[in-house]
Amino acid sequence: MEATRVVIAIDGPAGAGKSTVSKMLSQQLGLRYLDTGAMYRCLAYKALQAGLRTDQGVEAAVLLDSIDIEFGIGEPQPVFINGEEVTSDIRTPEIGEAASALSQYTPVRQKMVERQQKLVANGGVILEGRDVTTVVAPNATLKVYLTASLEERSRRRLGEFSAKGVAGSFQDVRTQIQNRDHRDINRDDSPLSVADDAVIVESAEHTPQEVCDIIVRHLQRVTGA
Ligand code: C5P
Repeated sequence: MEATRVVIAIDGPAGAGKSTVSKMLSQQLGLRYLDTGAMYRCLAYKALQAGLRTDQGVEAAVLLDSIDIEFGIGEPQPVFINGEEVTSDIRTPEIGEAASALSQYTPVRQKMVERQQKLVANGGVILEGRDVTTVVAPNATLKVYLTASLEERSRRRLGEFSAKGVAGSFQDVRTQIQNRDHRDINRDDSPLSVADDAVIVESAEHTPQEVCDIIVRHLQRVTGA
């Protein structure tokens, strides 16, 4: 299959290494990178700015209609809301929490999924999130569920936060991730789950490059390339 048509969908819990691996694969395979979590974060950012509470999912879905989300190219991948760059603003623990809370609401998910499906329609993309293998791109060329233990994921997230100068203890980060896992796995609408035909990869057992190599081997297997 031509790289231009390939769709690789990667789901998994917070901190499993989806972003690192997706970005590496996007470079290696020449695929566009779609970070669906960043889209929920953009909505959370605007919702908090507008004074909404994180249980106002219906209002947030209305707000989403006035939010244009665009991605640039670079590392970190630049993110723009209505032309304003919000790349680092959306990466705080507070926005992560608000995104997790607002993403539980069906009106929000419906609109997000619709946007994401348009972005994936032409192929040539690697996308990551919590429902991309099951809802956004159920017909993806390859579906991957990337996972690791709570301890490992908390260690990794803490490292990411401290590299960015965001304060927090291991215990705080562990609790945040545990809460997000709980919400993502138990929400009524499209909970995080392993698609029947997804390849499960344990990220803690491998370096990011090894994870990429495993995924490429599976891609070759399913495309016969
Ligand atoms: O991946 P990231 O941590 O940036 O995502 C922020 C939140 O958005 C997640 O905790 C999850 O609740 C939500 N999300 C989602 N579906 C996706 C991507 C993210 O519900 N496809």
